[in-house]
Amino acid sequence: MITVQEHLSRIVETVQRLPPTGLDLLDAQGCVLARDVTSEVPLPGFRNSAMDGYAVYAADLAAASEAAPVTLPVAGDIAAGSTALLGLAQGQSMRIMTGAPMPDGADAVVPVESTDGGTSMVTVSEPVPVGRHVRQAGEDVAAGDLVMSDGTRLGPRQIALLAAVGTGQVTVTPKPRVVVISTGDELIEPGTRPGFGQVVDSNGLMLTAAVRALDCTPFRVGCVRDDAATFLSTIERELLRADAVITTGGVSMGAYDTVKEVLSSVAAMRFDKVAMQPGMPQGFGVLGERAVPVFTLPGNPVSAMVSFEVFVAPALRLMAGRRQQEASMVSAVAAHDWSAPAGKVQFARVVLSEDGSGCTAAIAGHQGSHALGSLAGANALAVIPADVTSVRAGDLLSCHPLGPILEAS
Ligand code: AMP
Ligand code: MG
Repeated sequence: MITVQEHLSRIVETVQRLPPTGLDLLDAQGCVLARDVTSEVPLPGFRNSAMDGYAVYAADLAAASEAAPVTLPVAGDIAAGSTALLGLAQGQSMRIMTGAPMPDGADAVVPVESTDGGTSMVTVSEPVPVGRHVRQAGEDVAAGDLVMSDGTRLGPRQIALLAAVGTGQVTVTPKPRVVVISTGDELIEPGTRPGFGQVVDSNGLMLTAAVRALDCTPFRVGCVRDDAATFLSTIERELLRADAVITTGGVSMGAYDTVKEVLSSVAAMRFDKVAMQPGMPQGFGVLGERAVPVFTLPGNPVSAMVSFEVFVAPALRLMAGRRQQEASMVSAVAAHDWSAPAGKVQFARVVLSEDGSGCTAAIAGHQGSHALGSLAGANALAVIPADVTSVRAGDLLSCHPLGPILEAS
């Protein structure tokens, strides 16, 4: 028996960040930059107006007041998108729109609301400070600035900045392509009602969805029979398009545990009992010329999900150039007593709810490793250390979040 940490360490030491690739900016959403990006242009790219109003010389309005308003001629209009290089003579004004280039010489904008809105002459009854409502070129980003570093994950806000500085293609770590293979003679395709002895391949859908939720690219292969030759040819074929492979089922001690039977003879694969509940039978290694990481997870649905969270997700994040863990553990107080196995880390399905004073963890229902009802209802896994055999109401627990924490009503 090995520890959870030993198995995880072996996995994270084996996997590597994928080689960089060029993608169109919008296609790179969710990916991590693989190069620093410096801007060749300033932002704003030119001095422009922050308001709809009038570009002026502030000095011309220095003496303006309610009692003695100042009237200036309006020399023209400047709309956003105007590319003419305009200048403003002292003693004059120009009507200007938000985002339009400031005419040379003008040093302030009077908002239209502070004027009579005139089109040939405009009257202003208050002074305006120099620089008011003017956006200076480069005040946001200067040309030559490092705008984003290698390792930054691209979401909507990062994509906006890269687009604004003129980026078309970005060099990123691609999303790992992950093949999901379910094994078992009892399995049938989702969408069919199971007959006696049949089980729907819920793991295949769960793991495919989990890969997608992690912002990686899943390929679901579907159900493969407990037959060595079929499994071997399937995995050999799938290795071609995979950055990683996940299998479920067939790794226990049973007579038809095909995955283990086929892969345990491969030197780069290892099958272990990991001191955890659920999820004890685990296999990991690399296959093929490209040394593709292969995770062979147990078939029980809860074991498969816990294994994904604990072992596969950290590896896929590292391959994607992300941090091994992105969400912090949540501390919660046990709502009641329950027991935990000696010598194994328990991953208990719990419902975390938050009130004003903190988080409470309540057992989510049946804790059997086949029990999908309690898995779907849980929003966290309480991680109970191997040396703890009983959890008492009031104990402080460390929990791995699976979803949003509920507000206690
Ligand atoms: P195994 O790991 O193959 O011994 O399977 C353990 C248990 O998990 C059995 O009850 C299987 O029917 C169930 N199981 C295996 N694979 C899947 C799957 N893809 N979807 C749902 N249940 C499964
Ligand atoms: Mg099986």
